[in-house]
Amino acid sequence: MTIIPRDEHKISRQKISKNALKVLYRLDKSGYEAYLVGGGVRDLLLGKQPKDFDITTSATPEQILQLFRNCRLVGRRFRLAHIIFGPEIIEVSTFRGHHEHISNRENISYQTQHGMLLRDNVYGNIEEDAQRRDFTINSLYYGIADFMIRDYTGGMRDLQERRICLIGDPETRYREDPVRMLRAVRFAARFDMNICLQTAKPIPYLAKLLYEIPSSRLFEESLKLLQSGYGFATYKLLCQYKLFQLLFPIIARHFTLNKDSPLERIIIKVLKNTDYRLQKGMRVNSAFLFAVMLWYPLMQLIGEINNKNNFTNYESSVIAMHNILNEQCRTLVIPKRITTLVYDIWSMQRHFFYYRGQRAYKLINQPKFRAAFDLLALRAEIENNHDLKSLTEWWDRFQKASLLR
Ligand code: ATP
Ligand code: MG
Repeated sequence: MTIIPRDEHKISRQKISKNALKVLYRLDKSGYEAYLVGGGVRDLLLGKQPKDFDITTSATPEQILQLFRNCRLVGRRFRLAHIIFGPEIIEVSTFRGHHEHISNRENISYQTQHGMLLRDNVYGNIEEDAQRRDFTINSLYYGIADFMIRDYTGGMRDLQERRICLIGDPETRYREDPVRMLRAVRFAARFDMNICLQTAKPIPYLAKLLYEIPSSRLFEESLKLLQSGYGFATYKLLCQYKLFQLLFPIIARHFTLNKDSPLERIIIKVLKNTDYRLQKGMRVNSAFLFAVMLWYPLMQLIGEINNKNNFTNYESSVIAMHNILNEQCRTLVIPKRITTLVYDIWSMQRHFFYYRGQRAYKLINQPKFRAAFDLLALRAEIENNHDLKSLTEWWDRFQKASLLR
């Protein structure tokens, strides 16, 4: 273990949220060990403002519950305490321990045949907790009692040398929780760091373990991957490590050798736009992102259905929209509230061609008009298609003119 004393690191309490400090102090005053850990410590050391502050302590969830009135216990796989301060939630976890000692107590720890941990509620001490975290850079502890950083896994050096390294044997750690593969890529892209060789090597051949992950958890992860400001860099790494192919098989099926099909170009474009908007503090819309990414697979499928049957174009497109979203949801479930919007954005693409007069006014007042229009404009640009371009210009003028009315 390495200890970095107060005057040799740059974490200051001024940068830590008041509420996180309150929690840390109350735990400490009540006789428990309390540390800031995870993303909070890592980001402060990198000179960035953390998104949230995670705390770990020797107090059990029940003991934490007794200390804070505004506390709720959550989670099954990991039991955690949430201390709620209005919009800010401070997550407090109890030190996690090793599993070996408690072989058949299923309600505490539970592992599948393939080594996946479904429950991880064995408590331990700080050293054991450090070993159970995912990457070395996520396993640094800032103690509120002495303001020192404790490093049990070489995280400080890896942070300096800009390396994402799993703690322990990579294959075992990925089998315990395959989402760690996605996290490795996410952190590498976000901090522009390298995934160290041993951590990187098993990813392509273990990628299929992600099939075991509940598809709703994969959806949450996919938003963190593509919609947190580093989507384009993350996408490139996901493809390189054969992870994208697992999350979005319908899209990856259309990838080309030269990587320059409309599908590939529109994905790059939309991810770069999303990153730009997030940097500028603008809102992003996940329905729009999925509608764009799945647009060309949809076009292809409509074509195939048209060739095989004598449906009208409208009928084929309804069937195709349904099939594409259904198939996508087999690997990664997009919640209903979002797929409904994806339908709207897609359906409007037809309406842009046919709606004029009164119906055009109706269309621009629909909630998803802007997103649908942005997709139209992207298509026009990607395909360099004259008709689409003049249609985009028409709707652009119409929209501006109607604002002046
Ligand atoms: P972010 O800035 O995205 O919140 P983070 O590192 O804080 O990054 P969290 O998901 O908030 O990520 O998790 C907090 C900490 O919990 C991590 O830093 C890590 O130490 C630990 N952790 C999270 N997920 C896992 C996992 N799947 N396996 C092991 N440890 C994990
Ligand atoms: Mg965090």
